[in-house]
Amino acid sequence: MSTQKTSAKYSKVTVQELEFIRSIVGPDRMSQGESILDLHSKDESFHLRKKPDLVVWPLSAEEISQILKLANERRIPVTPWGAGTSLEGNPIPVKGGIVLDLQQMNRILELRAGDLQVRVEAGVIYKELNQYLSRYGLFFPPDPGASATIGGMVGNNASGIRTIKYGATKDFVLSMVVVLPSGEVIRIGTNATKTSSGYDLCRLFVGSEGTLGVMTEVTLRLIGLPEEFMAAIAQFNLVREATDTVSQIMRSGLSPAALELLDAPTVQVVNQFKKLSLEEKPTLFIEFHGASAAGLKEELRLVEEICGENRCLRFDSGIGREERNRLWEARYGVRESIKVNNPGLHPLVIDTAVPISKYPDMVEWSQKIVEKKGLKGYAFGHAGSGNLHMEILGIPEEKTQWQKVREAEGEIVDFALECGGTATGEHGIGIGKKTFMKKEHGESLRLMEQIKELLDPKGIMNPGKMFE
Ligand SMILES: Cc1cc2nc3c(=O)[nH]c(=O)nc-3n(C[C@H](O)[C@H](O)[C@H](O)COP(=O)(O)OP(=O)(O)OC[C@H]3O[C@@H](n4cnc5c(N)ncnc54)[C@H](O)[C@@H]3O)c2cc1C
Repeated sequence: MSTQKTSAKYSKVTVQELEFIRSIVGPDRMSQGESILDLHSKDESFHLRKKPDLVVWPLSAEEISQILKLANERRIPVTPWGAGTSLEGNPIPVKGGIVLDLQQMNRILELRAGDLQVRVEAGVIYKELNQYLSRYGLFFPPDPGASATIGGMVGNNASGIRTIKYGATKDFVLSMVVVLPSGEVIRIGTNATKTSSGYDLCRLFVGSEGTLGVMTEVTLRLIGLPEEFMAAIAQFNLVREATDTVSQIMRSGLSPAALELLDAPTVQVVNQFKKLSLEEKPTLFIEFHGASAAGLKEELRLVEEICGENRCLRFDSGIGREERNRLWEARYGVRESIKVNNPGLHPLVIDTAVPISKYPDMVEWSQKIVEKKGLKGYAFGHAGSGNLHMEILGIPEEKTQWQKVREAEGEIVDFALECGGTATGEHGIGIGKKTFMKKEHGESLRLMEQIKELLDPKGIMNPGKMFE
């Protein structure tokens, strides 16, 4: 954005605007209560809190359109809000203004089971959507773990443990309704599962983190629930042996539904937090989906063979949903376990993703950097997608120490970029990863800024995010 635009002042919400918004949504779906403003001043990251002037819970695209028209005219910042579970400060209203909390727009509008499609409002919680879909033998695979909304998942292009087989949120969005900053309501995309028609505007809005407009309705592609599950855990002496196994499984032609890594310190904190007794060694969590137990047994045999070639110490496996849940118990609650075991410390979350052949080097490099700087770090993540999460701990207020944490982050991201990877595989840019945008995108960053200027010339949508 041009310097002139970013330096121009934003307006605060005045009594006049409050009255106008009240005339649209009524008194019960807007609030300036301290606790409500406080709830909408933070996400799940360490980033500085900032309260909005006002929180509004709209119920329709029409209401949002009227509010955006007003905000655009008066240059009031507007930040869309899903469930606030982001990890990079993505929904924090850093310039104040209005937070549009979409959580009351939570209707499942239309299930077209025959087409494997569902049309939902943006505030639907994906876990609730999957509960509903399971009655029809269907599911929406991207799984960010937290209780996220579909709007927030589309906003961040979220993904998770099953992305390795099924894809990220971007692969499931067929069409959507978006309210632009001008108030114009547009429908983009198609319900056909393939199209060659024009620019792909859906992909433009996926991952736009509320900086281009507000999504009110999304049509998602669905997948049939798998008939059978196979799961395994494999433990190794060295993290390198575990990551080499990942890269070998991915090259072998096998198609795991999940392939996750926990390093030894992470297994240790999970053991403590959940009272488990896993060996405290680098561990892979593996899952396969298939039509029959017989087919899965053959895949299991091949996976065990590959693990053996990489000096696996312990291999435990099982077939069926219950076995899967037993084996995967230690993979859940990782962030909570780190937090509880390290009171007073805050995590800076690494989210680099690299081509799979570079993953072993990425993990090794990150661990070395953290150790060299005398910091504490826990490495885990969606290994099969080349996605590393490392939580590096520190206290943001302790300047010298936090500086080291940021330097470690910089060196880890630089390495990922040198490998042809990205600073963020799934958490988005928000506030935390803005500093890497120029390095990652080079000249094409200017094109992104021009797109932002075109759609949001007054810069009212979620200002202070994505671009420095
Ligand atoms: C314990 C934990 C584990 C996590 N694991 C993962 C993981 O494995 N993978 C992963 O991808 N993420 C993960 N996350 C991060 C987070 O849960 C996801 O990014 C999630 O998609 C955010 O959804 P939300 O509804 O909370 O959105 P919010 O945090 O409220 O918003 C996200 C962004 O989208 C914008 N937005 C929200 N709704 C709309 C809308 N209707 N229109 C336009 N813009 C909108 C917001 O302005 C913001 O920029 C994790 C978080 C936690 C706390």
